Amino acid sequence: MKNIIKDFKNKANILLADGATGTNYFASGLQPGDPPELWNLQNPSDVFNLHKKFILAGANIILTNTFGANSSRLKFHNIEKMSSEINISAAKLSKKAITSMQKNDEVMIGGSIGPTGEIFKSNGGDFTYEEAVDVFYQQAVSLKSGGVDFLWIETLSSLEEIDAAQSAADKAGIGTVVTMSFDTAKRTMMGVTPKQFMNFFKNRKTKPLAVGANCGVGPSELLLSMKEIKDNLDDTILLVAKGNCGIPQYKSGKISYSGTKSIMIKYAILCDLLGVDIIGGCCGTTPEHIRAIKNSFTKKNNFFQKYNFPKNYLLEEGFFRDLIIKEIGQPWRNISDMEKPSNNQFRKRRRSLKIK
Ligand SMILES: [Zn+2]
Repeated sequence: MKNIIKDFKNKANILLADGATGTNYFASGLQPGDPPELWNLQNPSDVFNLHKKFILAGANIILTNTFGANSSRLKFHNIEKMSSEINISAAKLSKKAITSMQKNDEVMIGGSIGPTGEIFKSNGGDFTYEEAVDVFYQQAVSLKSGGVDFLWIETLSSLEEIDAAQSAADKAGIGTVVTMSFDTAKRTMMGVTPKQFMNFFKNRKTKPLAVGANCGVGPSELLLSMKEIKDNLDDTILLVAKGNCGIPQYKSGKISYSGTKSIMIKYAILCDLLGVDIIGGCCGTTPEHIRAIKNSFTKKNNFFQKYNFPKNYLLEEGFFRDLIIKEIGQPWRNISDMEKPSNNQFRKRRRSLKIK
């Protein structure tokens, strides 16, 4: 299969993806617990405007507001029957934003697909692999008919769920970008390492267009996971990073992000140094952060000169780690075992706040 993102990338030096969806809607009045996906139908102008802001900031890839729009997730809100309508509307809103800005040649749409939130039989739950394929297939078909360029399967933590989502995409005849979320010590909530993630695709017939990491803890932690992905990457596949804007902090039941523009610029430069093809942000990342990244690329050479190192130095993990520590901060520094929420708590919090 032809890699449509690779062809697209040849036109641009670096591809920028957009930032957060859920956390930006909070600023527009979304209430914690409410499904942001419903805004595609109830507040379409807010969805449209956020897309426009990210495009204006320089994003070449925007994601539909459909992270939790699979029927399993929508069931929590008793709106699973609206899944198809929500996904189609979301895709059309993204298209409308691009067309209204006459950016059809510069911006692509990734149809966002998040986890089902169900526990698989293999993990003691009652959700079957076949059910998962079915749920993802319905969403994939709706997003495709709404006009997305490819699917963007994100924040996944289990390989079985990735398998189901990728199979659904194959069945629907659409390409994918697949990212996992590594929380602590480079492992997903289900214990998967970046290397295991890459090995999973080695024997698969259909490869994703791009793979990488998103969300998780902070940009330092994400960069270390990205390094392991890069070291095990099949080079026909592009690399994508969508890190959170700093570290999520829990204060009186609310999540805020410690990131600044300067941190996001450094994160983006380190991504570029690692050879990441698509750089974006996850939770807490606003259009202003994406704009700052876009503008920073003109200053990229100053950064490289400061270190004056040969490019192959990066192949050493220790060197890259030192660079991350120096520029952004020690990974897992502010997350001591005492403060660190357990994976289950983290998942519950994320779900209850509908954060992606
Ligand atoms: Zn996130």
